Amino acid sequence: MGEFELIRRFFDRQGPAAPGVATGIGDDCAVLSPTPGSQWLVSTDMLVEGRHFLSTVEPERLGHKALAVNLSDLAACGATPRAFFLALSLPRADARFLEGFARGLFALADAHGIALAGGDTTAGPLNVCITVMGEAPQGQALLRSGARAGDELWVSGTLGDARLALEVFRGTRSLPGDAFAQVRRAMELPQPRVALGQALRGIASSAIDVSDGLMGDLGHVLRASGVGATIDFEALPRSAVLAGQDLALQQECLLAGGDDYELVFTASPQQHQAVRDAAARAGTPVRRVGRIRTEPGLEVLDPHGAPLALRFASFDHFKS
Ligand code: ADP
Ligand code: MG
Repeated sequence: MGEFELIRRFFDRQGPAAPGVATGIGDDCAVLSPTPGSQWLVSTDMLVEGRHFLSTVEPERLGHKALAVNLSDLAACGATPRAFFLALSLPRADARFLEGFARGLFALADAHGIALAGGDTTAGPLNVCITVMGEAPQGQALLRSGARAGDELWVSGTLGDARLALEVFRGTRSLPGDAFAQVRRAMELPQPRVALGQALRGIASSAIDVSDGLMGDLGHVLRASGVGATIDFEALPRSAVLAGQDLALQQECLLAGGDDYELVFTASPQQHQAVRDAAARAGTPVRRVGRIRTEPGLEVLDPHGAPLALRFASFDHFKS
């Protein structure tokens, strides 16, 4: 199968035109029409075999995750998903792989109403790079820079399961079969919090998605906003599986885990009920886990209110 047959067979779905996509796959450029009064929000994330996923991952789950991590960035900014672009490097045109990959990719795309509008296909090491485009009304995008002292700090869903799964894959831990299946789902099938992000427009003062660990990602918000934060460790939402692990592992998974794709956001205490209502509208659980303060830095408190001594940092590809 040649390059163009591959694109036609697996990626060019001649369906009804998606909102905003005037011309999609098949021309030199996609032509997109913004909704009047909106801004484009654009983000790119690349997944490299051996670094972001294991070679043994199911192709369907890889297709899901490649788009999910990108949709998570749109979620963090409160964007409404519109169009995405897929740059794919493949060792060979393997129909079984491509069928599964496309199935996982389009199932998630359809669930969020986002259209594949173009891309690039080349032979090479397995590498998936997606660019997503979403929209938000002018000036309403959620940014990292808006947290203010006194704001409440919130987290969606639960944290840490993806990291726990990674530890099992690495062989440092073992779990019973059903518990492993559950945390493996968290790692391979993250559900981007797109509805929550949109519901928080005009309510949250800042937001970020947790991809490299809570401490590191929250650190980006604190630096961008020129504030600090206090987190109540006990309040951090965790699955029953993770809650059954020893405390050192819970700390590592919850605070420095990564691959969570939950939203961490801040909002004024006056917006407390508005946050709860937004979360209910989005069908996403949220939990208040701390507070923003004037003094810089991030402090994590144990149940007695004493600061935890923490030694780990968030994931950084270029740090030794
Ligand atoms: P060009 O050579 O002009 O860059 P290509 O031959 O690479 O165009 O691609 C032909 C068309 O197929 C373009 O519209 C491009 O956006 C689309 N395309 C290529 N690869 C993919 C892919 N993996 N997924 C979706 N669309 C793709
Ligand atoms: Mg091209």
